Amino acid sequence: MAVRVRDAPLSATVSLRDEVATLASELIRLDTVNPPGNETLAAEHLHGYLEANGVACGLYAKVPERANLVARIPGTGDGPRLALLSHTDTVLADPAEWEVDPWAGEIREGEIWGRGALDMKGHVAAAAVAVASLSREGFRPKGDLIFIAAADEEVGADFGLAWLCREHPDAVRAEYSLNEGAGDRIDLAGRPFYLASTAEKMNSPFVLRVGGRSGHASMPSIADNALVKAAKLIERLGEFKAEPRLEPEVSALFEAAVGAPPEDANQVLEAARLVDPIALELVEPLLGMTVSPTMATASQKRNVVPALCEVTVDCRLLPGQTQAEAEEAIRGVLGDGDYELEWIEAHGGTRSPMAGPLWDAIAEWVAETEPEAAVAPICLAGFTDSHWMRDAFGTVAYGFFPLRYMDTQLATRLVHSANERIRVDDVELGLEFLRHAARAMN
Ligand SMILES: [Zn+2]
Repeated sequence: MAVRVRDAPLSATVSLRDEVATLASELIRLDTVNPPGNETLAAEHLHGYLEANGVACGLYAKVPERANLVARIPGTGDGPRLALLSHTDTVLADPAEWEVDPWAGEIREGEIWGRGALDMKGHVAAAAVAVASLSREGFRPKGDLIFIAAADEEVGADFGLAWLCREHPDAVRAEYSLNEGAGDRIDLAGRPFYLASTAEKMNSPFVLRVGGRSGHASMPSIADNALVKAAKLIERLGEFKAEPRLEPEVSALFEAAVGAPPEDANQVLEAARLVDPIALELVEPLLGMTVSPTMATASQKRNVVPALCEVTVDCRLLPGQTQAEAEEAIRGVLGDGDYELEWIEAHGGTRSPMAGPLWDAIAEWVAETEPEAAVAPICLAGFTDSHWMRDAFGTVAYGFFPLRYMDTQLATRLVHSANERIRVDDVELGLEFLRHAARAMN
């Protein structure tokens, strides 16, 4: 794959497949591990590529080395805007664990290897080539077609889409958006489904401050050990299971697979259990809030009994669920005691309707691409940049980048892990989908 898209203006002899594979590989070669990010490397590369294809671009940066790129094909103003969202940063990689150099962008046996191949430089390339190729064809949408390659998704330290939505809302405002999050092809009740994420749980961690009384560790009884007291509370949190609650996305997914809506959440759990243990593990967090104690600090000295133990707890709420409601449930399992509970963050927990023109565009594309398959909605247990768009502009935001050729479970395992790679077939498929979506919204 020796085609250098950026240096050589494209001719008809370069297929879209080669173009997108080359761009994905070039992006992987730019080290944008976050922290520190250095996403300007990717933003400038995409800038050069898109401008060469007649697409107007702007770089928006809070600090020079962490630029976001926003490009657009302006619309005639008679229709809704569609934003293709992506992020250019990646998580780190330890070359010792890899079979290849994680930043070589090697293409072998139909797969593009490297950090970010799946999450999400393959997708970034597909979105960029979708916009560039439509621009070359003279595509003129009714509403702006916007390409956003944001910085800082993996850490979320306010250099990326959150910052753009707040500081440059006119550059990124859109009625509809497509992003990462889902697109996996799974079999349900013998029929293939492509999952589209329409909702995300809320990231809502809290700190538990357990109090005690310090003292010399050689005479334990004179003190009141906050660490020991915290251990009991941690154990209770570890056993916490929310009362299962049926959410519209889970209900719709169940109905798509089974043909009728579930009667209650337990029926969904039962059905998932019958499919396999993995299905159960995936479905369970979608039926209730989850609580995972992950960090603890107490005394700084071995011989001092701590008067305070701080336990940080990862907690995810269902969309629409409030922290007050969650706190009641958490205090219910902890019982009374010498502790304070403080919420430290609240991000996400948004949803978009599972209907409308963008939903139809996805469903239509799935029907055309694989007639026996269908699209089904899913709520994500984690969260993506889509929630910034929903929060800021009420955007109908979906996560959908189809993955048909690569095994779904393998792909899930490779994200943020060693030997991350994506099939060129899937990048090409994603590119076709994004081109279809842009045209369908017209
Ligand atoms: Zn990602």
